[in-house]
Formats: sequence, C-alpha cells, structure tokens
Amino acid sequence: MRVLVLGGGYAGVALTRRLEDRLPNDVDLLLVDDTGEHLVQHELHRAIRRPAIVDEISIPLSDVTYRADVKTAAVTGIDADEQAVTLADGEEIEYDACAVCLGAETADYGIPGVTEHGQPLKRLPDAEAIRADFLDALDRPDGRVVIGGAGLSGVQTAGELAALAREELGSVDAGPELLLLEQQSSVAPGFDAAFQDAIAQALRDRGVRIRTDAVVAGADGDSVTLAGDEEIACEQFVWTGGITGTAALDGERPGVRGDLRIADRTFVLGDAARVVDADGGPVPASAQAAVREARAVAESVVRLVDQEQETESGDEGEALFPPRPEQFRFDAAGWVVSVGDGAVAQIGPAVLTGRAAKAAKAGTGAGYLGSVGEIERALDLVYDELGAAGDR
Ligand SMILES: Cc1cc2nc3c(=O)[nH]c(=O)nc-3n(C[C@H](O)[C@H](O)[C@H](O)COP(=O)(O)OP(=O)(O)OC[C@H]3O[C@@H](n4cnc5c(N)ncnc54)[C@H](O)[C@@H]3O)c2cc1C
Repeated sequence: MRVLVLGGGYAGVALTRRLEDRLPNDVDLLLVDDTGEHLVQHELHRAIRRPAIVDEISIPLSDVTYRADVKTAAVTGIDADEQAVTLADGEEIEYDACAVCLGAETADYGIPGVTEHGQPLKRLPDAEAIRADFLDALDRPDGRVVIGGAGLSGVQTAGELAALAREELGSVDAGPELLLLEQQSSVAPGFDAAFQDAIAQALRDRGVRIRTDAVVAGADGDSVTLAGDEEIACEQFVWTGGITGTAALDGERPGVRGDLRIADRTFVLGDAARVVDADGGPVPASAQAAVREARAVAESVVRLVDQEQETESGDEGEALFPPRPEQFRFDAAGWVVSVGDGAVAQIGPAVLTGRAAKAAKAGTGAGYLGSVGEIERALDLVYDELGAAGDR
C-alpha cells in the first residue's frame, strides 16, 4: 500500500509525522515537496528584517521525518478518480490514500498590475526581494511603501518594515511613509474587534499609517490605484491581499467539510482547501488550523489502511462499508501576531500586548519547532524573539 502526502508545510509535516508513528512498516509513506524544506511560514516576515533567521525557519524535510521517503519534486496534477498524481518530470505515482497539503499561492483577483508589480510574501526569495527593495526605498524619505492587505501576513510585514526602517535610519519618520491598505473596515479581518484594535494601535505606535475600506483596483510600477480612481504614488508595493489555489489544483482551493475529503481516499487540508468544519464553521487559513486538520486526516488514513489490510488478510466482513472518516472541528487556541519587536496576542477573550504578548509569540514559534523535534532551532528562535534589540 502507498500513502502519499503532497506538500511539506504545516499540514504535510504534521500529518507525515503522525503517520510515521501509526502506520505499519509495510505501508509506503511518501512525502513530496517542491523545495525539500519545511518552511515555518508564520515567521517568514521576520526574514525581511533578519535574513539570518532563515536557518531557524527553513528545515530539511529529512530532519523532521524518520521513516517516510522524501521526494523533492513539483506536483502538477492530482487525479482523485484514478488515485494518481503527476509530477513535473512526467512521473506518475499511484496511491491508496493521498493528502493534498500544497498550501496556497498569493491571489491577484485579476486586479490589473498586481501580479507584475505587487511583491508577494510566501516563500524565502519573496522575503529577500522585499528586503532588497525596501532598503533601496529607505533612500527616499519623501517616498512611500504600500502594503496591500492587512491579514496575518500584511500586518506582520508592515511591523517588520517599520522596525527595519527604525534600525537603519534611527527613526521610522526618517524613511518613506509606510501605508497599510485594507479593503475591509478593520485590520486583521475576521478576528475579534479587541484584537483588531490592539493590532491597529501597535502598528500606528510604530509609525505605520493604516487606511481601511481602501480597495486596491490596480497597480503599475509607480503607483497603486484604489477603487474610485485615487492614485497613490509609491516606491514599493507589497501585496498580501489573499490566497488562491496552487496550479496543481488548477488554481482552486476546493471546499471540504469536516471529513476533509474530495474523494474516498483523497484528502485536502491546510491552506489548499476552503474548510468548513463539522459544526459548519468556516476555518481560517492558518498554521494552527493546518496542524489540527492533519491530526484528523491521520486518523482517517489509519482507518483506511487498517481496513485495507484486514481485507487483504481475508476478513471480508469489515470491507463491506468504507471506514468512517474522522470529523474535524476547529476551536482556535488563541492568536498571536508580531508587530516589529512587539506583539499582540488573543488568548480566550483577553488581548495582551507588551512582554506577555512577546512571550506568547516566542512560545508559539518555539513550541511549534519543538513539536517537530527541532529543539536547537526552538531555542535560537526564543533568543531571537526575546533578545531582539530595540523593543519599546
Ligand atoms: C508572512 C506570514 C505570516 C503568517 N502568520 C501566521 C500566524 O501568525 N499564525 C497562523 O496561524 N498562520 C500564519 N500564517 C499563515 C500560515 O503560514 C499558513 O496558513 C500555513 O503555512 C498553511 O500551512 P499549509 O501546510 O497548508 O501550507 P504551507 O505551509 O504553505 O505548505 C505548503 C507546502 O507545499 C509545497 N508545495 C506547494 N506547491 C507544491 C507543488 N506543486 N508540488 C510540491 N510541493 C508544493 C510548498 O513548498 C510547501 O512546503 C502566515 C503566513 C504568512 C505568509
């Protein structure tokens, strides 16, 4: 039997590690990822200001797995009816169970000029490109840098840019204006109002200007245009306005319910899917949701494998009905975002800022790295987070 995990992000790694512990040794477990590295994406914005953090947040997949085969290759197609995937070199791999954990791409929503002129933040080279252009933009104190989209990645990117300006110039006011645009009526749309307010305040305190109800309608090399035709001149345009499916899924993020399946033996989870949980609630695309979904899918895959092996060993009775898939329910443990060297956390109804929030942020990142066995990297990250200079 072969179990295939596509994508080595949060969902893929959490799932592979569970399956390594629980699947019998005679089941092939294959993890396919186009980079061969596990990127701790929720810290990616940090690499804009501190390139050295890459050592802590990019981990060879062979380091976080122990029995799965890891293949570095791009998936180009998934045929759930035929139970087969195609790789970029034309190789076809058949499976008995497959989990699609390919994450998402940055969406341009067809807005003219956004793909050409908006810089996404999804992968390590994106952080390098944003840093390089921002350092150039710092030479233009009368200029402007626009960040489009104030979700988790946009607010944290704005915070990093403000902190980088302060580190380079001594004061954020000595650099270009940092303008964060959000089409909805608040930053961090979808989160609790108190959390949103605290994030907005933390950004303003650090010199970021925020405009809400500002819909990006176009971009060229020199400006961003808002709906209503207002043109905003800028030296740099960072675009974190939303996500869409990967090419391997034809640009779609398939909708899945609590069983996280698109077919009997094909699961889609993490950012790759639009998940509505077993209680009917939409699940935010997030690292914490991806890891939790992986636990549910691991359970379902183990049931499938158990049944198949029982059938092969002659116990036909079990095979009359497919095994019941695990149902996923999402209950957020809390949220924490960095804003430069500060942080804002929501734990239950309480919203924290200052040292408590910073500790929560450091604990979240380090806790995650610890959960995939990366204790050294976890310690380095805590040092980076709590020892970072220049907090206020
Ligand atoms: C800057 C930033 C900050 C964020 N902050 C937070 C936060 O504070 N809290 C939070 O919960 N979430 C945060 N997020 C969101 C979080 O990172 C994502 O929700 C999470 O990464 C989704 O996990 P995933 O496993 O579905 O996908 P990913 O982590 O994106 O993993 C997908 C994997 O699939 C691989 N892949 C993609 N396409 C192919 C292909 N065709 N073939 C083979 N492999 C492929 C990729 O290389 C990658 O390894 C943040 C995101 C960003 C960008």
